[in-house]
Amino acid sequence: MGYKLLIDGELVNGAQILDVINPATGEAFAACARADAAQLEQAIAAAKRAFPAWSALSHEQRRAKLLALADAVQARAEEFARLLTLEQGKPLAQAEHEVGGAIAAMRTFADMDTQLKMLREEPGTRILQQRTPLGVVAAITPWNFPMLMLTPKIAPALITGNTVIAKPAPTTPLTTMLLGEVASTILPPGVLNIVVDANDLGGVLSRHPDVAKISFTGSTATGKKVMESGASTLKRLTLELGGNDAAIVLDDVDVSTFAPRVFQAAMLNAGQVCFAAKRIYVPSRLYGPMCDALAALARDAVVGDGLERSTQIGPIQNQMQYEKLLSFLDEARARGKVIAGGAPLDRPGYFIPPTIVRDIPHDARLVREEQFGPLMPILAYDSIDEVIVRANDSEYGLGGTIWTTDPERALPIAQRIDSGMVWINKHLDLPFDLPFGGAKSSGIGSEYGREGLEEFTQRKLINMAV
Ligand code: ADP
Repeated sequence: MGYKLLIDGELVNGAQILDVINPATGEAFAACARADAAQLEQAIAAAKRAFPAWSALSHEQRRAKLLALADAVQARAEEFARLLTLEQGKPLAQAEHEVGGAIAAMRTFADMDTQLKMLREEPGTRILQQRTPLGVVAAITPWNFPMLMLTPKIAPALITGNTVIAKPAPTTPLTTMLLGEVASTILPPGVLNIVVDANDLGGVLSRHPDVAKISFTGSTATGKKVMESGASTLKRLTLELGGNDAAIVLDDVDVSTFAPRVFQAAMLNAGQVCFAAKRIYVPSRLYGPMCDALAALARDAVVGDGLERSTQIGPIQNQMQYEKLLSFLDEARARGKVIAGGAPLDRPGYFIPPTIVRDIPHDARLVREEQFGPLMPILAYDSIDEVIVRANDSEYGLGGTIWTTDPERALPIAQRIDSGMVWINKHLDLPFDLPFGGAKSSGIGSEYGREGLEEFTQRKLINMAV
């Protein structure tokens, strides 16, 4: 068996085996190790044993290890990208981009240090701030960006001196396991452990007294469960959860220039992006032309197997999500007007073409809920005040976009959006050295940047009379 768990520095078979499906065919293309609860306990115990020595290393020593890991992944980048397309479905160019981002994240965090900081120095008193690692932390990652969600968790955790249990999504475990294979020759035993489950071991991690923190990216419903199961041990949590981001098109845009940009913001990764534009608000005056332009783009998009270089949009990653989207499609056909797409492709695999839905009511599920797929509801609005109220009328508050020829006009609008991020005339620009995090039900805490790094540490004040 090629794909193994990493426990205490050893690549090991699982108590069971898990089939991994290529979403472009609907068929299993690989099998991997699946851990049972006893193996997860072994991994946690190994991480606990490894913690004292790893946390005692200097920043420079840990940095060298992390950079070596980044270099080793880089050396096998093509293999990672191909495997990512096979298990996730995304077009190969996007997989290559994702692997590049995952490597860049490791390098960015490797250079971040948490030094002793003087907070106050006055006659008789000196107050210092130290940041200490938490211990064993768990990284639970989703299936939409298996690599790009992973390294921005494990790199800041490791560089600050924590040891890690990484648990990938059961439908996309292989690239994480390959990273484990690479790491097994670089990191000391127990520092990074890779445990694959079938959605059955998450609760063990979040309840475990020897796990100090969970960094979770996934759905809001599961995020709430993580919080519940972490309560008894006061688990430190970073939760990056769902979103239902509004894209607000202003009335000054040229439709032919902006339609492709809005389309891309909604359809990248077949819409399986937490920050995807999930509701498109267009001024009434431009509504018809914008709907038509987006529908034309949807009809032109090349949907197919991500391994084919011509493919622009790959399959839905897994059957459960595919079926969820089919129920959204039923509703869209019943309550709105589908002007492009609208039915799954008649071929094996989980293919849903980009689908454009107009004249759909505000209370439709496709507008209220997170579709997480290539289904785009377009809504008309008449005034800026109205569209801001509608954009904010959501349990979510992850991101949002504003599209205009005059960015200065968008700035005061952006300031009134209740979310952790607003992009103006751009999308998904997320520098690793700046933080992001969701408002409302979109999450707790932040990732990336110094703030994200610090969430893997405990602040300690040392207050001395001198
Ligand atoms: P999906 O939408 O694909 O089901 P989710 O966002 O719900 O994905 O996340 C599923 C992940 O959360 C799995 O890795 C699962 O093991 C993990 N999980 C489920 N319940 C808990 C819990 N109570 N604590 C920690 N992780 C959990």
